[in-house]
Amino acid sequence: MTEDSRYRLATRSIHGHRLRDAHGSPHIPVYDTTTFAFASTADLLDVVDGRKPGSFYTRYGLNPSILALEETLAGIEGAEMAWAFCSGMAAETALFLTHGREGVVCIGDAYGGTLELLAQQLPLLGIKTHLILGDELDRLDALLADGIRLVFFETPTNPTLALFDIRAMATKAHAHGALVAVDNTFASPVNQRPLEFGADIVVHSATKYLGGHSDLTAGAMMGSKASLGPVWSWRKNLGSMIAPATASLLSRSLRTLVVRVRQHNAAAQQIAEAMTRHPKVSRVFYPGLADFPAHALAKKQMHGFGGMLTIEVAGRREDATRVADRLKLFALAPSLGGAESLVTQPCTTTHHELTPAERTRRGISDSMLRLSVGLEAVEDLIDDLEQALR
Ligand SMILES: *Cc1c(COP(=O)(O)O)cnc(C)c1O
Repeated sequence: MTEDSRYRLATRSIHGHRLRDAHGSPHIPVYDTTTFAFASTADLLDVVDGRKPGSFYTRYGLNPSILALEETLAGIEGAEMAWAFCSGMAAETALFLTHGREGVVCIGDAYGGTLELLAQQLPLLGIKTHLILGDELDRLDALLADGIRLVFFETPTNPTLALFDIRAMATKAHAHGALVAVDNTFASPVNQRPLEFGADIVVHSATKYLGGHSDLTAGAMMGSKASLGPVWSWRKNLGSMIAPATASLLSRSLRTLVVRVRQHNAAAQQIAEAMTRHPKVSRVFYPGLADFPAHALAKKQMHGFGGMLTIEVAGRREDATRVADRLKLFALAPSLGGAESLVTQPCTTTHHELTPAERTRRGISDSMLRLSVGLEAVEDLIDDLEQALR
């Protein structure tokens, strides 16, 4: 990808791979093949020992559909290399098992599966994990001094769209010899490229914006050769490789990533502004609003403010539930980043397992609704919200 890095993101998302199909197809087809043949043992060893690029065995990732996808994935985050996975959680698991064995500190809110892995499962393997909230950042120095070697966070977070300063975290972590990994799922590389601010590793649930159509489950990890190299064996032996058909579908999706995300951004901004004026909405959480607390930081490290926003319905939990149930275009479903708009009430879905006190501690009220703004006509989406709030 290095020779192509002069191209802009929209170009890289389409021409990101150098592999060429033998028949001239501009797009690498699905190689369902599990194993690839060589002309000689010398040729086989060249690929196995990494002297020459090539295909070998699909679970290793050495498959043309997967290799082409990974070149594009690296290009869109401005990374030296990328690994594709069968899900976002597979990418997170490989990350923590490779780089988190001497302890992980997770800052702020994170995806439910990630929190469960960190809080409950990794400690069963003897891995020390520390979950600190955004107002406990003063604990970070002591944890790093104690030998924690991986700092992990999402920015923006779910569902309050809290932001963390990537450059500041990287400076602090690097001073102690620790790595910084950012889950960039909510922003997408169109809006934020954490590696440019000093992060070492980026992970994605490609199930969301990268896939963009709610029709595939996949994960991705991007970073330098030094940080991603050791992840390879873990992915290989955990068996968490992306399927070739999914890799091809994800490559197809990446070709429209830039235009999709720009439209998600524009529509979310318009909806956020409409909701701030609505008498039945008490608060709007969206980094693109000038009076949002983290707006200045958003402008510093984001190119766009994303398609996710949260509104707080004036009233109680039941009022917000009624609004969610009355929406017609916003489907009541978890997940995000697809062409269709979705709504969730965090206290009944993503944060249902927490006690009310824990939700309050995290700034999540029961009357919040999280919106994933899709690609429908924004006027129709605003009309839908207005009829539901009425
Ligand atoms: C969905 C999601 C994940 C998990 O991804 P899967 O593809 O469902 O495994 C991780 N992080 C964030 C921020 C997510 O939204």
